[in-house]
Amino acid sequence: MTHQPPVLPGCRMGIVGGGQLGRMLSLVASEMGYDVAVLDPDPESPAGRVADEHLCAPYDDESALTWLKTHCQAVTTEFENVPADVLEHLSSQCIVSPSAAAVSIAQDRIQEKTFLQRHGLQTAPFSTISQPSQIAAAWRTLGGGDAILKTARMGYDGKGQSLCGSQDEVDQAFRAMGEVPCVLEERVEIATEISIVLARSKGGQVACYPAAENVHTRGILDYTIVPARLNPGVADKAQVLATKLADAMDYVGVLAVEFFITKTGDVLINEIAPRPHNSGHFTQDAADTCQFEQQLRTLCQLPLGSTQLRSAAVMVNLMGDLWCGGEPNWLAILRNEQAKLHLYGKKLPRTGRKMGHFTYLAEDVEIALDKALALKQALSD
Ligand code: ADP
Ligand code: MG
Repeated sequence: MTHQPPVLPGCRMGIVGGGQLGRMLSLVASEMGYDVAVLDPDPESPAGRVADEHLCAPYDDESALTWLKTHCQAVTTEFENVPADVLEHLSSQCIVSPSAAAVSIAQDRIQEKTFLQRHGLQTAPFSTISQPSQIAAAWRTLGGGDAILKTARMGYDGKGQSLCGSQDEVDQAFRAMGEVPCVLEERVEIATEISIVLARSKGGQVACYPAAENVHTRGILDYTIVPARLNPGVADKAQVLATKLADAMDYVGVLAVEFFITKTGDVLINEIAPRPHNSGHFTQDAADTCQFEQQLRTLCQLPLGSTQLRSAAVMVNLMGDLWCGGEPNWLAILRNEQAKLHLYGKKLPRTGRKMGHFTYLAEDVEIALDKALALKQALSD
């Protein structure tokens, strides 16, 4: 579609995918006066439960897609494994962002890393492996240190990855992954992991949130510290690189860019997510505009909101594991004026499942960190 006027409150917007990111977008959109339709096959989907309409059908269901494109003025997605051709199909009749092309780059680590390389954006050294005969050369190229084999598609929260210390281990891991296309990546010495969440409008305006420092436990984001405790030159550089990447993709929407800051000071791009990101949840309580409102604004072609930080903050993920001793002690958070609780309405607290998060606000980032971690502990007391 060529030129469209902005999609204003009162219109209906659609979300392909009904997880917690869709739920938080849906809540923001409802608050701003939009009607929301969610497409997700799970009858209990977190977003489906709060949206005006829940189309409970597979993502490629013809009649559900026809309904979406005839009844919604704008449609977005909340997870990157939505089939890219679904977005392409919807874009024939309504505004869709991010584009199918942008989502397909982020869906595939080979495409993603090749794109970054082509635009002069530094990543950890990598080789691609699509068949066993390529393993020896890939291993040699990386120089023989530890390497991580990652499936090109469908990996998340550390799934689809294997740490390899020898060529034999790469052989075994590649077989165990079913010989699907993979990247083999040098294991770099990370000093800090950060992310930049940004919003880019159709006209090319970019608004970056401050760098967020991410701490992972067993491959899953555990907590995020904002602003990241970095020397300001590094945080600025990451924002410049993230903006350059969004421009190169002609990206429209909210984009999260994960970085490794190495012990030698290199700023490497790890991966991107074409949507709001777990590490951007602090924006709900600590920034002028939250990342979900930015997603709505970019989608509906409204002016971008301010990404100014109002307070230092630490966001802590609440994983299903926390329920192993029974219902967490919510009052510990609720009685604390500096803490904000967000739960996703998921009924089954499985190990490794993201059930919610809380954000602790403080003037000083170290105080926020101490208090947030103590509060997390208090949830199990
Ligand atoms: P996912 O899609 O599961 O988030 P990532 O590629 O971001 O996959 O990897 C998950 C985590 O594993 C990273 O946040 C980082 O802690 C660690 N990791 C991934 N790649 C490397 C690498 N090349 N060197 C060192 N650590 C890595
Ligand atoms: Mg990651």
